[in-house]
Amino acid sequence: MPKIDLTIAEVKALAIACLLANGCNDENAEAVAEIVTAAERDGCASHGLFRLPGYVAALRSGKVNGDASPSIERLAPGVLRIDGDGGFAPLALEQGRHPLIDATREQGVAAMSLIRIHHFAALWTEVEPLVEAGLCAMACTAYLPMVAPAGGREALFGTNPLAFGWPRKVGPPVIFDQASSVIARGEVMVAARDGHDLPPGVGLDVDGNPTIDPNEVLKGVMLPFGGYKGSSIAMMIELFASGLIGERFSFEAAEHDNNDGGPPRGGEFILAMDPTRFGDNAWLDHTEKFFEKMIAIEGVRLPGARRYANREKAQLGGVQVPEELHAKIVGLIEV
Ligand code: NDP
Repeated sequence: MPKIDLTIAEVKALAIACLLANGCNDENAEAVAEIVTAAERDGCASHGLFRLPGYVAALRSGKVNGDASPSIERLAPGVLRIDGDGGFAPLALEQGRHPLIDATREQGVAAMSLIRIHHFAALWTEVEPLVEAGLCAMACTAYLPMVAPAGGREALFGTNPLAFGWPRKVGPPVIFDQASSVIARGEVMVAARDGHDLPPGVGLDVDGNPTIDPNEVLKGVMLPFGGYKGSSIAMMIELFASGLIGERFSFEAAEHDNNDGGPPRGGEFILAMDPTRFGDNAWLDHTEKFFEKMIAIEGVRLPGARRYANREKAQLGGVQVPEELHAKIVGLIEV
């Protein structure tokens, strides 16, 4: 597939131009472009520029408010709630970040819920700034029903990602960010676009038969990772990101969605902890020893290491983007 070279600044400028041309105000365009660019830079193509047509579809259909002005409420000393005003999640997240950091330092533990948002991004972009502020944090969000609970052939869960991060004494934070399906939906879409087979075990076709054809999986259902274990994690995410905070479960999001290809309305749940408030002044040295032990084992790497290596490369040499995708985005700006 032919590709073109772009600098990181060019990726961001392209994303901003596309979002502005399709109904985002400056603030919302900047916030969304920031996370699209971060994904492209870190080699997470399924959540980079690839997502822009979906963002645009949701703006054009009127499902998402491109002028959203999120507001924040403190429901309890350690519980914040952001109302995203029907906009994309990034601006709401940006506005909640510092209040969440402050509340966590004050209380030791704090949580933030986001309601009335449309989430279409990689979650590590949200956990990383909290971990860089010295906190441990996790975030999760539900989506549209695409994943069958273990034992079933009918979709109920979203691909429901969970991200978790821990600060390190040496080097960048340790962050894992994973869908609770075997692979992310975006990867199945990329495989369909590029004409690749999927690894076995990703999903079932409409008749409930295992298939490695991404187009059949897109019509059928995806499977949770690790059988019933991943299924329980997907269920927990539905409960945190919907049941706990008063937002839509994946199946309810589908009942209200207009199927424009953009993200449905939903919620997100973030939990942060200040490790300096748990009584061990040596926690950073102690956990560093643990990480050193872990990576000393042959064949082992820390989650996040691939992204940080890609980031370093992209900061020097930019990124490569499929020509077809670039042309599609330019077309969305010009229409
Ligand atoms: P991957 O399976 O590619 O990776 C999951 C995690 O495992 C990453 O943190 C990755 O780190 C780590 N990892 C991978 N290989 C190894 C290894 N050999 N050793 C140690 N760690 C490893 O991600 P998914 O396909 O599950 O998810 C991709 C993205 O999709 C996520 O960013 C997620 O947030 C997003 N998503 C968003 C949704 C939404 O509704 N907004 C829905 C579902 C998914 P590394 O990055 O360094 O490789």
